[in-house]
Amino acid sequence: MRAEEARGLAGLVFDLDDTLLDHGELTEVAYASLFRLREAGLRLVACTGRPAGWAEVLVRQWPLDAAIAENGAVAFVKERRPFGAPRLRLVFPSDLAAAGARRAELRALAEELRVRFPIVALADDNSARFTDVTLDIGEHCRAPAEDVAAMRAEASRRGVHTLASSVHLHLSFDPADKATGTLRLLEAAFGEDPTRARLTYAFVGDSGNDAAAFAAFTTTIGVANVRAYLPSLPVPPKFVTQAAMGRGFAELATTLVDLRVHPG
Ligand SMILES: [Mg+2]
Repeated sequence: MRAEEARGLAGLVFDLDDTLLDHGELTEVAYASLFRLREAGLRLVACTGRPAGWAEVLVRQWPLDAAIAENGAVAFVKERRPFGAPRLRLVFPSDLAAAGARRAELRALAEELRVRFPIVALADDNSARFTDVTLDIGEHCRAPAEDVAAMRAEASRRGVHTLASSVHLHLSFDPADKATGTLRLLEAAFGEDPTRARLTYAFVGDSGNDAAAFAAFTTTIGVANVRAYLPSLPVPPKFVTQAAMGRGFAELATTLVDLRVHPG
């Protein structure tokens, strides 16, 4: 990456599972790199398929400006105040009750798929979700790719959108993805022009549910484990780190901070 590209960035949008996290766990080096990125003047936005309830905790406690959950359907922003704790604001969805009501239909479909494909299970984080219902395909089990494809085809026949990460298959009526969700948040919470934000925000991820963001943003980075998904990504990330998962994220952070702080 050229120094000019790194210095032109206003923020970094990052995936969690197998990008910042190593098999679900946060390492010291990955967490520390968030503080270095913030010190280098970057707005930090987590962007995950994980539940709204998780994103709410992350924004409250971590050095983040905002978090997008459920693959772009939910967003929280941290609003700093002159005194006291920062305030958390749900940016979208606007109608939580409507989104919640439709989850019953999604749960029925998930149950059907679980019976037909006994290798999969309901993900263990569904209780914290606002909009989608999620099946575990790779977190505590290993669902074959053809089973995942068959489940996605069946969901699609029912008018249900699907996204798959390295760990989960998400079922949703919300057509949002990580690109539309991120651009919507950046405009609503920070007044960013969506066309310009594609140039001034970098995105880092690792797998299939990051595909829309890899295609939408100009500066995109995959951690090394993204290589397993390159054949299925319509647009590959522009850069790939040498290290995988959290160490790859830290490698990216070091590179970005060096280029911004020590222009060469
Ligand atoms: Mg991931």
